[in-house]
Amino acid sequence: MPNSELTKMTTMKKPEKILIVGGGTAGWMAANLLVSRWKDIDVCLLESTEIGIIGVGEGSTPHLKFFFDAIDVADSEWMPRCNATYKNGISFANWSSIPGFESYFHPFPAQTDDVFTVPFFFSNIKARMQGNNVNAHPDHYFLETYLTRANLGPIPAESFPFGVAYGYHFDSGLLGQFLAEKAMSRGVKRILGTITEVVLDANGSLAAVRLDDDSLLDASFFIDCSGFKSLLLQGALKATFKSFKENLFNNAAVVMPTAISEIIPPETRSTALSNGWAWKIPLTNRYGNGYVYSTDYITPEQAEIELRQHLNLVDSDVAARHLQMKVGRVEKHWEKNCLAVGLSQGFIEPLEATALALSFNTISLFMAHYEKGLYTNQFEDAFNKEVNAKFDSVRDYIVCHYKVNQRKDTDYWKDNAANTYLSETLNQILYFWQRGGDFAKNMYMNNLVGSYQPKSWACLLAGYGVFPPLTSDAKAAQFKPVQDMEQLADFIRRCGLNFKQHNELLH
Ligand SMILES: Cc1cc2nc3c(=O)[nH]c(=O)nc-3n(C[C@H](O)[C@H](O)[C@H](O)COP(=O)(O)OP(=O)(O)OC[C@H]3O[C@@H](n4cnc5c(N)ncnc54)[C@H](O)[C@@H]3O)c2cc1C
Repeated sequence: MPNSELTKMTTMKKPEKILIVGGGTAGWMAANLLVSRWKDIDVCLLESTEIGIIGVGEGSTPHLKFFFDAIDVADSEWMPRCNATYKNGISFANWSSIPGFESYFHPFPAQTDDVFTVPFFFSNIKARMQGNNVNAHPDHYFLETYLTRANLGPIPAESFPFGVAYGYHFDSGLLGQFLAEKAMSRGVKRILGTITEVVLDANGSLAAVRLDDDSLLDASFFIDCSGFKSLLLQGALKATFKSFKENLFNNAAVVMPTAISEIIPPETRSTALSNGWAWKIPLTNRYGNGYVYSTDYITPEQAEIELRQHLNLVDSDVAARHLQMKVGRVEKHWEKNCLAVGLSQGFIEPLEATALALSFNTISLFMAHYEKGLYTNQFEDAFNKEVNAKFDSVRDYIVCHYKVNQRKDTDYWKDNAANTYLSETLNQILYFWQRGGDFAKNMYMNNLVGSYQPKSWACLLAGYGVFPPLTSDAKAAQFKPVQDMEQLADFIRRCGLNFKQHNELLH
């Protein structure tokens, strides 16, 4: 194809054809969202059977529910196909060695929180920061924590008037297959082939990709979902990558499955190990497990041995998979006629399972900005700024887990606690926590609320026991909490009567 023709195709008007490069979860999510909103655009997806997908990423936030709502797919349709289970939140064990704070649960939001429990939680935190001996451990305040401890799923009886947000656990390979079938049934064309060259036009925009059979695939707009390689955005367009290595040390993971228990817990478990942390994700047919660690502190062989010990698999021949992680993000997720989604735009390690949420947000925001700009790059800068803010605020929340960890057993944990490469936002959040006072109000007043609400920050900091020493008994005795803990426990227990056992819900 002559260059002049390719140039014509990349001029910025409503695209006739969009080519998605990559058929991992990010690529098929993008394909489904595009066809569900832009009915008159030809959407093709190219994937390479030779290269395959990363095949991890089995936990989500409530954004995956928002995604399925956006493409009009019910839980009952996709969950059984993907061995999926419900997730009320994440429990964190052994991140703190302070007595009484060895574990805590980070629940997803429920409407009961804001009305009944968050104000009480914050008032007790304020009192605890003043040295009063009050109960400020997050596990006693939230409905979803109660549901999880009782193995209850997150879907209430219809008569229950409060909404409860939830996420999922799923087999990422099966999810990809389900999404591929759904997208193709709605008009997306799948192409198989491996890219050998990316062709630019005279303006430096993307014009076409050359495949291993020497054919050229052109399009007016390209979505790069090629994984960590980022063939189009970072490869051909040379987008700058900003590494987060200074504040997030982990760069590798080792993964292996174990048998599922009879009772399937509605939570991800995150357990701190010697040089990182291990996830335990329940699917209907197995647990997915992985140890996320830093190769600066431990070798892949040592990590595998430690994970096997943690899972009681020392004598088992179950195979382990070793993975590298590139942690950071690009400076521009949308440049010229290319948008990157998924690992090709960046990755923050999997501690809070945020990658698919960021992919969903990226595609949704892009579609809104592209439409608003009448299919031109008018809002490219605003979009990139917004996506960067989302990545950075997730990063800050993850960094905080490491910064305030309360372990002293290895250099890894000590170096994380001593790490001074913190963003200005994270420094301010930690300042307002240490200062005491109204933490939530200070976060809002100082524009510090990003991807995580003050409740989530407070769960993390209170959950690790980041409190000053208690003052004398005399002062503690004078403090009267605004509400009775037993009444609160009874309220939450009564709410819990509206929920089914997780196993029953899955059936
Ligand atoms: C250890 C680990 C744990 C994770 N845990 C979570 C989690 O709990 N929750 C979560 O949300 N996310 C998690 N993630 C992230 C998650 O795995 C990814 O965001 C998700 O799988 C999407 O990946 P992707 O589609 O961007 O890339 P991939 O799955 O790598 O897909 C890349 C695609 O590009 C194609 N491709 C590559 N090169 C070429 C070429 N030359 N020609 C043609 N096609 C090509 C491949 O064929 C493939 O289809 C985790 C990641 C890691 C590393």
